Amino acid sequence: MSKTVICPGSFDPVTLGHVDIITRASKMFDKVIVAVLVNSSKTPSFSIEERIELLQDSTCGIENVEVVSFNGLLAEYCRERKVDAIVKGLRAVTDFEYEFQMALTNKKLNPMLETIFLTADADSMYLSSSMVREVASMGGDISNFVPKCVHQRIVERLNKG
Ligand code: ADP
Repeated sequence: MSKTVICPGSFDPVTLGHVDIITRASKMFDKVIVAVLVNSSKTPSFSIEERIELLQDSTCGIENVEVVSFNGLLAEYCRERKVDAIVKGLRAVTDFEYEFQMALTNKKLNPMLETIFLTADADSMYLSSSMVREVASMGGDISNFVPKCVHQRIVERLNKG
């Protein structure tokens, strides 16, 4: 049976850590939906359209990836799209408590929905969107942190403020 998973997040902006998780999920499952959260409590630096476009360009070589935006409850969206599991990257112990709580909550809301954790890659486990934003806004080199094809756009956009 065909298996569909979802990688949710704010992706503000996409980093090599995100692409690593999406790529690995795409090899394990038939379809990967990358879902950009609209209703995040944080005020984003990149618009929803920009975040989607950056993700699409960063994953354009992967056939079974679809990038969407979503508003509302993830568990509900997963029911509508017949998603089998949520795939999340675990960077460190600090991620664990919150992710464990989210996984249990989503399971209660939608008992068919599993959450699968992939361990972050040793080369990108320290990466976060906030770190990329901070380094770029101070003129630092982010070429090792974001996909090559979107690097220039992210730099220009963050320089504009
Ligand atoms: P952040 O803003 O913390 O960078 P997001 O909310 O955009 O992250 O994260 C979306 C998903 O990607 C989450 O499951 C998160 O654990 C995962 N993720 C983020 N950064 C990395 C990384 N460097 N390595 C592995 N997974 C990551």
